[in-house]
Amino acid sequence: MNSPALPAVAAAAATRGLVEISDVHKSFGQVEVLRGVSLTVEPGEVVVILGPSGSGKSTLLRTINHLEKVDAGHISVDGELVGYKARGGRLHELREKEILAQRTHIGMVFQNFNLFPHLTAVENIIEAPVYAQHRPHAQARARALELLERVGLSDKVDVYPRQLSGGQQQRVAIARALALDPKIVLFDEPTSALDPELVGEVLDVIRSLADSGTTLIVVTHEMGFARDVADRVVFMDQGQIVEEGTPLQIFGAPQHERTKAFLSKVI
Ligand code: ADP
Ligand code: MG
Repeated sequence: MNSPALPAVAAAAATRGLVEISDVHKSFGQVEVLRGVSLTVEPGEVVVILGPSGSGKSTLLRTINHLEKVDAGHISVDGELVGYKARGGRLHELREKEILAQRTHIGMVFQNFNLFPHLTAVENIIEAPVYAQHRPHAQARARALELLERVGLSDKVDVYPRQLSGGQQQRVAIARALALDPKIVLFDEPTSALDPELVGEVLDVIRSLADSGTTLIVVTHEMGFARDVADRVVFMDQGQIVEEGTPLQIFGAPQHERTKAFLSKVI
């Protein structure tokens, strides 16, 4: 990692948005999958990322949540550099424990739910608060029950994932992502693995989060959702942000040929 000079990085981290992504590059082997991505997300904003398969959308989300390390550039969440801290005028990589602490501010929901199969709905939700955060069990459980109610699953508290539909599993996964009161929640194609009739119930939960002012970055192919819920739509292709704007701008009057070509295929 070639860290940029500290003062510049620290200044950038402290400015503006809740999430600041600044000139991020990431390669796997010889292939550069993020090629200078910069994006600012304001508190309370809902940003939808669109783009063809392989354009780097998942990798970008994963860099925000420490699941991938950037090769160059930097990311900050609420003024804290992701993966680094400043000490003695230099940047130091965070240790594992510090990374875990930083990650508690960032919720993530995956395409394939990723619930623990051997834990019930409520146990999935309290896992991180109790075992990673050492919060009191009774308090974590009370919060989990609130969250299950919020996602419409009060009747599934003690049920195992295999007894739930895909839509219900994903709603548990959303409740789990909210359990540590994150500053932002990242969604990576949250409805792509669902049967069509189950997509709506999950989108409704995400929509209610958006309405309540939670900051969201959502990678999705659900264009109706993007149009209705996004404050801003970002179009990625080949590791770069090609174009961004309001849903009206992107869907109504895309400027770039690659955006037009993509939208003509998916709408
Ligand atoms: P998207 O989510 O837009 O479909 P990804 O971020 O998953 O795109 O992938 C971007 C590119 O990076 C793809 O070519 C993919 O094959 C490659 N890639 C993603 N993760 C890895 C990895 N862990 N190792 C090697 N290549 C990867
Ligand atoms: Mg992806």
